[in-house]
Amino acid sequence: MILRILALATAALFAAPSVQSSDPVSQDSIVITPAALQNGSPFLLTVALHNKASLVTGTWQDHPIVFFPNADHRTWSSLAGVDIETIPGHYPLAIEIDPTQSTHRTLHQELDITEAPYEKVPLTVPDKFVEPDAAALKIIAADKIVKDKAFAHSSPKPAWTSNFLPPLRVAPMSDSFGSQRIFNGKLASVHRGLDYHAKTGTPVSAINSGRVVLAKPLYFEGGCVVIDHGLGLMSVYMHLSKIEVKVDTKVHRGQLIAWSGASGRATGPHLHLGVRWQGSYLDPAKLFQIQLPELR
Ligand SMILES: [Zn+2]
Repeated sequence: MILRILALATAALFAAPSVQSSDPVSQDSIVITPAALQNGSPFLLTVALHNKASLVTGTWQDHPIVFFPNADHRTWSSLAGVDIETIPGHYPLAIEIDPTQSTHRTLHQELDITEAPYEKVPLTVPDKFVEPDAAALKIIAADKIVKDKAFAHSSPKPAWTSNFLPPLRVAPMSDSFGSQRIFNGKLASVHRGLDYHAKTGTPVSAINSGRVVLAKPLYFEGGCVVIDHGLGLMSVYMHLSKIEVKVDTKVHRGQLIAWSGASGRATGPHLHLGVRWQGSYLDPAKLFQIQLPELR
């Protein structure tokens, strides 16, 4: 309970401020939430238009962005993100309003990306995960095909409803997103998710509504579930001991999807949560802090 209250207090402290820019001629404006972006940050894009539009699209770091409208078709939103590997600097965002019509106009904004402070963490795992043998390499190659297929298609409409919720109610986070991990003193990799300390058998729930696109054991990931939330946004749950959902089924926000465990390349029982947007890995903790508009 104390943890829950602490988590809520932290969320309130960091309740993301937004930055707004507007075009004085057209009176169209872009709001970015949160205002300060780092490598690994997810962000909410809101475009407020003077006149209603029939289509709003955008481009950000070579990613296409599709916006969805609220009832009056003057406020359009989308979720996007800054890949963890992005080098700090200024990057252009372009938003096209009614791209196929005579009313077509483009809004431009430079987004300033600063460097997130990520730590180095040494870890010890069984050698088979650092130097997999021929049989293991075969499994890893087959896993890659399964994952590529799951990641290939995302719903063109947002399946999420309102804010994203942590997948566990009480477990504290153990390893920050983006830390550089040295496995057995040999292999370095960047941690592309958040770990929650959770004893085997802790219920794991969907961080938002969506469709299950992967639900099976994999070599490194162990028991693994991937949920597509639409518009390229997916959540990935790893090291599960038992999976309660099947591929192609719809799940709702907060629904039990699995039980945590220590399967795959894990140093002990924990839940690993990843958030992926169009192939980029984003910080789940930052996603939970964004206040999203209610859909439907
Ligand atoms: Zn992890």
